[in-house]
Amino acid sequence: MRLIDGRAIAAGIAAENTAAVAELAATGVVPTLGIVVPTSDEATAWYVRSIQRAAAKVGVQTRVVQLSNPDRAEIVKQLADLSADPNVHGVICQTPLPDGVALEDVVAAIDPAKDVDGANPVSLGRLAAGLPTYSPATAAAVVEILRREEVPLAGRRAVVVGRSTVVGKPAALLLLAEHATVTVCHSRTQDLPAVCAEADVLVAAVGRAGLIGADYVKPGAVIIDVGTNPTPDGGLVGDVDAEAVKPRAGALTPVPGGVGPVTTMLLLRHTIQAATR
Ligand code: NAP
Repeated sequence: MRLIDGRAIAAGIAAENTAAVAELAATGVVPTLGIVVPTSDEATAWYVRSIQRAAAKVGVQTRVVQLSNPDRAEIVKQLADLSADPNVHGVICQTPLPDGVALEDVVAAIDPAKDVDGANPVSLGRLAAGLPTYSPATAAAVVEILRREEVPLAGRRAVVVGRSTVVGKPAALLLLAEHATVTVCHSRTQDLPAVCAEADVLVAAVGRAGLIGADYVKPGAVIIDVGTNPTPDGGLVGDVDAEAVKPRAGALTPVPGGVGPVTTMLLLRHTIQAATR
């Protein structure tokens, strides 16, 4: 089994992003990503810092709006204000949200033209309709990795485990747009291992450490592991039991160092595209 190097793929996208930022600089535009952080959660703070580091590397500016236990109206106001600011080109809202506030209650406040993580339902609707839009960066990373690894998709069986609005559903739509034959699985799917074992390309976006074992894998399958599950020692593991699938799988994205770094670079690519428009 080959391990797919997400960091190397991200480095390639970073070089493209840096060149695009330089072109924009000639027109006096500095692409800027606004990030509303409605939580003091440490994992979220770590993730925001990692976006800021990656952004600084390619010349994208970030503007972080840190909120302390905000209500729905405050989050909506900050997203709307960033959306209205002509010097901000991309707007994202971090999770988790405070108790009682649902993501779908706030993300409609992000202008679809600046919705670089495809969070506004308008963006997902446009994706479903096959219209130009920003896809959620994690779902986009799944397909970008497959494309850069030259994994054929047209006519092949893709199985996505997970049907969330942020990952599973948009990943399935993007694979469909690549002409794969797509099956979407979830917690009610019967005989999950047998369905997964039909996949030429298997995408795990569940949030259950080690769920995907050898019996889920068709020999030679390419597996994209989106899951990020914290371990007691402060590390991260994916949804795939890498040791168990090793003898059967053709290729696997590791966790960490797989989907994550590519996701961040695509978020920045979308921000640069929004600034270019
Ligand atoms: P989510 O909203 O909790 O969705 C999980 C999905 O998995 C749901 O559709 C759920 O089914 C399904 N599921 C749960 N248990 C299952 C089981 N035993 N068998 C089959 N399906 C099962 O999670 P998410 O936001 O999509 O995130 C998924 C994972 O990706 C998490 O580990 C998250 O941390 C990670 N993630 C990674 C990145 C990255 O950049 N690498 C970005 C975002 C998320 P139901 O719909 O039936 O409940």
